[in-house]
Amino acid sequence: MEEKEKKDGIAWVRTHCARMDHGGCALLVGVDRKENRIVQVKGDPEGFLNKGYVCPKGVISPDRLNHPDRLKTPLKRVGERGGGKWTPLSWEDALAETADAFNRIRNAHGARAVAFGVGMPKGLEHFVLIRLANLFGSPNVVASQDVCHAPREITGIHTCGFYPVADFHHPSRLAVLWGSNITSTNEEGEICSLFLKQLKEGMDLIVVDPRKTDLAKKATHWLPLRPGTDHALALAFLNVIIEENLYDRDFVEKWTHGFEDLAEHVRQYTPEKMADVTWVPAERIREAARLYGRSRPAVIQWGNPIEHNIHTFDITRALICLMAITGNLAVPGGNVEAVDPRIMGLGEFVRADLIPEKRKEMLSAHHRVIPRLMTIAPAFFRKAVLEGVPYPVRGFYAMCSNALMSYADSPMTYEAFKKLDFMAVADLFMTPTAAMADIVFPVASQFEFDDIGHYGIGHGYVLARPKVVDPPEGCWPDMKIMNELGKRMSPPELWHDDYREFLSDLLKPSGLTYAQFVEKGYLKGPDRFRAYEAKGFRTPTGKVELRLSVAEKFRLKPLPEFSGLPEKEDPEYPLVLTSCKSRYYLHSSYRWLDRLRKLRPRPKVEIHPETAAAHGIADGDGVVIETRHGSVIQYAELTDSLDRRILNASHGWWFPEDSPESQYGWRKSNFNMLTSVSPLGREYGTPNMKALGCRIRKALP
Ligand code: SF4
Repeated sequence: MEEKEKKDGIAWVRTHCARMDHGGCALLVGVDRKENRIVQVKGDPEGFLNKGYVCPKGVISPDRLNHPDRLKTPLKRVGERGGGKWTPLSWEDALAETADAFNRIRNAHGARAVAFGVGMPKGLEHFVLIRLANLFGSPNVVASQDVCHAPREITGIHTCGFYPVADFHHPSRLAVLWGSNITSTNEEGEICSLFLKQLKEGMDLIVVDPRKTDLAKKATHWLPLRPGTDHALALAFLNVIIEENLYDRDFVEKWTHGFEDLAEHVRQYTPEKMADVTWVPAERIREAARLYGRSRPAVIQWGNPIEHNIHTFDITRALICLMAITGNLAVPGGNVEAVDPRIMGLGEFVRADLIPEKRKEMLSAHHRVIPRLMTIAPAFFRKAVLEGVPYPVRGFYAMCSNALMSYADSPMTYEAFKKLDFMAVADLFMTPTAAMADIVFPVASQFEFDDIGHYGIGHGYVLARPKVVDPPEGCWPDMKIMNELGKRMSPPELWHDDYREFLSDLLKPSGLTYAQFVEKGYLKGPDRFRAYEAKGFRTPTGKVELRLSVAEKFRLKPLPEFSGLPEKEDPEYPLVLTSCKSRYYLHSSYRWLDRLRKLRPRPKVEIHPETAAAHGIADGDGVVIETRHGSVIQYAELTDSLDRRILNASHGWWFPEDSPESQYGWRKSNFNMLTSVSPLGREYGTPNMKALGCRIRKALP
């Protein structure tokens, strides 16, 4: 670990941010070694991805470490589940009780009756969890990938043989931010800084977002689409680009399959027709599509709204078709295949070989999801717990997850957790989800253990996250917890004496020790552009499959369609409710950090002033938001930055200051009291989380 100048007894250590989002910003962390305490965090100007940038969450991230409410000893539930009563127990007892409970379930019902859950993966622990599931013998790793990156990754693999990521490392003439507000939720550290640099240098910008964000104000074109209609808009783009011959004819002829079919098919999606659906005027759609068609290279940065939609398959298919026909796939400054550096492959790390029947055995096989989706959509997990379909699940181990808040349909999650025979949760703090566990494990936070970031997320690099300070006695890294559980739940020889050996395993192919890797800071794979010229695309036809050749075999739609709104319109619920991520929190995390809470003290719902006035609502008023599925209270913020028919609510809200008995007020303002898992998208099991019919009224004081 590199320690820079020491001034006033403060040592400056280089590491990378994590656990406030996916992480990616290189940081300089000031440490008071005598006190074992972080005193300051700054962006590292030499950072490969962030060039000195750091967001408010990154600056405040050490506040997690010394917070008085932090869990510091394993806990065992006393009394009824969710009752908020606990007794401390030793690590040895907590591990033994957890392993015994899961082993008992396996003996009685089979290994697949235990599911392993992860929320937002931040480091290597995600893959140690998959390894734990594999070695235990369970095919069921439950992750929120249905609403995160799986649709874009897997649709990409089926369409063009890889997951096309935005390349901001090379100049682009145009960037399209499609549902991505990257200065607010800076997903990989890199994007905001490198993107902003290019914007300053004159890159054009199209923003697709219902809200007039700060970036939308700077855009060449802002397309304020109706939430949930991304597929309609993307198909209209395809229509314009093909009808007006703005596509890359050479690429299309040589490297695409099914162009004629696509051209014929998208003729119906004129900007005029799609304007009625998307609420974006036809001429604005046409102008933006023309700009995308004419700009080479152009890059699309897509955000999670494309995946919070039952039609995510159509949306991601249409967007990849756009990248392809405009010649923006696999070119510098376009959407590219990121190649990993020389490190251990995922399959080897997680010991996929030990569970060869996984594809057939996993819960989602029953629901006939798209091939290659290897995690279980939360809706299917809860159905298995509650209804035993296709078989019962009785045990659950969760880490980096506040599933009660983050899965669509929170009451369903609550009922499922109530019904489990046994549940263990590893977390930093007590949360509404941890409050439902039988055993809670207190974890070490980022800065308190050696880790490797960005492994397995398809961005072509890994980041060093060395330990900066010691964790409190009693807090263990997730990797260590699972390494020790693994020895008690599966053949012990397949686990390490010390969890840090996972880091060395992963780096072995690079020839580096962990210490040498830390000195380097990161490893990046080689740039690989136009690799198809040598070997074709890794699809059955060797081309980008605008028309999917495997559609019939896998019961997939051959061409992207506008298959309707995510929810039927209902005059009883005339407004459209959407949500967006906060700049100050990570999903449901960190409401307990005072410095962040001061910046965003309570859940806000953005309402157009005319809509608010029509309902007798003033700025700051409590607002009851009702959908067909439930109701919550949030607080009005009046803004004309969105359409009169749209509301933008906050997600992930619970109240750490509320009582444990109330499970910290998880129902009051929680966006997922308003969502449902019926219907789900066929291909990924994705619910509608971004376009819900709703109505509002002023809350009683
Ligand atoms: S943008 Fe993300 S990685 Fe960068 S400092 Fe903020 S939370 Fe950390």
